[in-house]
Formats: sequence, C-alpha cells, structure tokens
Amino acid sequence: MQVWKFGGTSVGKPERMHSIRTLITADKGRKIVVLSALSGTTNALLSMGESAKMGNDAELAQKIVDLRTHYQVFIQELYSTPESLAKGQNIVESEFSFIQSVTSLRPFTLKQEKELVAQGELLSTQLFQAYLEEQGESSVLLPALDFMLIDADQEPVLSFTEEKLGEMLRQHTNKQLVITQGFICRNPRGEVDNLKRGGSDYTASLIGGAIRAEEIQIWTDIDGMHNNDPRVVKKTFPIRELAFEEAAELAYFGAKILHPSTITPAKLRGVPVRLKNTMEPAAFGTLIADNTSDRDIKAIAAKDGITAIYIHSTRMLNAYGFLRRVFEIFEKYKTPVDMITTSEVSVSVTIDNPEHLDEITAELAQFADLEEHDRDQTIICIVGNFSADKEGIALKVLEAMKAIPIRMISYGPSEHNISLLVHAKHKAEALNALNERLFHYEDAMKGIFTAP
Ligand code: ADP
Ligand code: ASP
Ligand code: MG
Repeated sequence: MQVWKFGGTSVGKPERMHSIRTLITADKGRKIVVLSALSGTTNALLSMGESAKMGNDAELAQKIVDLRTHYQVFIQELYSTPESLAKGQNIVESEFSFIQSVTSLRPFTLKQEKELVAQGELLSTQLFQAYLEEQGESSVLLPALDFMLIDADQEPVLSFTEEKLGEMLRQHTNKQLVITQGFICRNPRGEVDNLKRGGSDYTASLIGGAIRAEEIQIWTDIDGMHNNDPRVVKKTFPIRELAFEEAAELAYFGAKILHPSTITPAKLRGVPVRLKNTMEPAAFGTLIADNTSDRDIKAIAAKDGITAIYIHSTRMLNAYGFLRRVFEIFEKYKTPVDMITTSEVSVSVTIDNPEHLDEITAELAQFADLEEHDRDQTIICIVGNFSADKEGIALKVLEAMKAIPIRMISYGPSEHNISLLVHAKHKAEALNALNERLFHYEDAMKGIFTAP
C-alpha cells in the first residue's frame, strides 16, 4: 500500500481535484490519500481567529462570508450531478455553521483556534470524498482525529496510529482508496490539535511509517526538492535522489517543500519518500531513500528567525561541566539548539524558538557572561556527501561567501551538513552567491532530461 499526499495548491481548484482523481485511479495500487486544506483556507481560518480574539465581530463576519462564498463557487464546478452538488452544499453549510459558532465563543482561546483551523482539512476531504462517490470510485473517508495523536510534548504517537489505523483499514479492505486529513490530530486531553503549519507532509509520513507503506508520495506544485530555494534564487533545479539524512537536514533547515519532521518516521521504518509535481506528473521529481549518490554538494536551504546566544565561562580555562550546565538549561525550557560552536572558554548556540529566551538568559547569567543576543539571523545549510576524505568543499563554500559576514560556522558533526549563520539581511545574497559557486546549472539541467 502507498500513501499519497496532496498539498494546498494541488487541491485548491475544482479542476485540480479532478486531476487528482485521475492520478490516484490511473495507478492501480490500493492507497491512502492524505489531503491538505484548499490553498488559502488555513490562513483565512487563522485570520478569522485573530478577529475573534480581538472581538472584531464585523471583520470576522465578513471573513466568514468571503470564505463561504469561495466554497459555494468551488462546489458548483466540482460536481456534475445535482445530487452531489446538494451533498456538497450540505457539507459546506454544516462546516460553516460550526465555524460560525466556534468563532462566536468569548474568550476565544487556543483550544477554539485549533478547532477552527482543523475545518480546512475537514472540508477538503469531505468534498473530495463526495466527488469520488459521484464518480463511482471505491473509496472511504477515515477521520484522522480517530488515529492521529500527539503526546504531552507534542510528539506524534506512532504506535497509536499503527494500532488504530491498522484496525480501521482491516474494516475496509474492500476499498481501493482511503481518504484522510493531513495536519490534524488529537492531544492527550482529547482535544483537536495539529502538527503545526505544513503538517500534512508529516501526517503522510507518520501514516506511511505506521502501516509500513511501500512508498510515501508527496504531491505538490514543484517538480521535487530543488538544489536551492526557488523563491529566492532563480537558477535552481530538481535533485533526483537524496539520502534520508540529506532530505531531513534540508527540511529541518528551511526547505519549505517538506515539513521539518517529515523524514523522521519514513527513515525510522525505511519507507522511501517520493516528491512529485501535481501540475507535471511525468516529471521524475525526487526520490528520498537509504542510498545516496556520491556527488559532493547537493543542495542548500535557509532557516529564518534564528537567535544566536553567546556564552562565556566565568571560570575560564579547562572548566569541565560548563557545557553540561549550559545544555541543561535549554533542556529545562524544552528549547532545541540548532547550531553550536565552541572555543576554549566560550560557546555560541542558536535557537529558533525564543519563547523562553528571557528565562534561559537569566539562568545562564548565574554562571556565565553573556554577550548581547543576535536576533533576526539565518542559518544557511549546505547539504551533501562530505566525508572527511573529500577535499576543497569548505574552501568552495567560503570562497562563495567571501563578501558576506559570517557569524558562526559548523562543519563536521555529520557528513551531510555545513551550516553558516548570517544576518537575515544577507540571506538572498548568500544563497545566490553559493548557487553560482557550488552548482553548474546548465550541466544540471542537461542531466534532468537525460537518463540518470
Ligand atoms: P504544499 O501546499 O503542496 O504543501 P508548499 O508550499 O508547502 O506546498 O511547498 C512547496 C513550495 O516549497 C514550492 O512551491 C517552493 O516555492 C517551496 N520551496 C522552498 N524550498 C524549496 C526547495 N528546496 N525545493 C523545492 N521547493 C521549495
Ligand atoms: N493546511 C495546513 C497548513 O496550511 C497543513 C498543510 O498544508 O500541510 O499549514
Ligand atoms: Mg506544505
């Protein structure tokens, strides 16, 4: 069995839903189809939540009318029979009456916001399932809220999905297509929750891992993982193959095509992940699996919103136990550290979640001197196969960066990653300079159209 996930733009128009039906039925294997919300819907729902929080009722009412109208127009083109259209209208009416009632609650809390934002995936999957039924396809809609669970640390509980989804699938062995929602889940209190923005990719991978799928396919609006961020750099190209570790680094360090945690469950269970383009299904895309080709530098990604913390030991040279004390504080506040560099008496670290920065700073200051933190930093992550016997890779990277101030450099902890910290204002310049120096665009484009 395979798991195929379609993102927001892939379901964002009625004709796209029609194409998805063609895609998922042209391939004859039984599959689980994970859908995101229609593009724009999650943002629109969150924006309603903001109006509700501010108590701005007129603005809220307008936002609800606008989104409801969007869906009313959408279903007119989605269905071709009056019976299905009536079904679609019922779905839209019942979802929007929920949206109306949940946004009218005061105070409007985080719990309500999570219920509200879940409606995007609940809408897209019900509308698509009704369309498949209209077209006579053998399909069933299974609610993700019955088998996706996060624990108190907001970590997905894979064993729960394995057991619950396993049972549910055994009850529907006669169905070729199993449709479900990406992104949404329950938390330990039984409330509706989610896997954070872009989380449908993660859902697909968790399901793929849980059922030990043959393959997980992530269908989106681009022909695979590119060698650099196509939103910032012009001459980028798709990479045909990546190792799990390489893809995980790229996703974690900002390649938006994948939710940062997507690769973890797939890697754990050894399930290959294929990235495909819904608009151009014949394109090869990217295959992420255990193996890796020997090419040195494969891709670059950038992660924004980073804070750098500079810590100096007050006990000076040879102070053992210092690093342990530093990291215990980050652990206490459940704040992951992304980059670390050390000298004899100093350590610099970066974090992407400044929620507890004040408490962390206060505790560090009890045994260390701190320089002022640098906010608004970007980690540039260069990914590839950099085993120690490869020469000249760091040189090429630093040559490309010669005109750009670098705040931190990390090289060596894995054979797959060189990370540089720069101020966010230098990000575009750095990505473009590295692209020019590290890749040969014309050669790469030739390779794309010839056999690998
Ligand atoms: P979906 O809605 O299908 O989940 P996303 O918008 O989340 O799609 O992800 C796809 C987008 O990711 C692309 O349109 C592209 O702009 C962006 N992106 C950022 N970095 C990369 C990269 N290295 N390779 C491919 N796409 C990338
Ligand atoms: N709809 C959610 C979001 O926009 C999840 C996803 O698209 O993956 O973040
Ligand atoms: Mg996405």
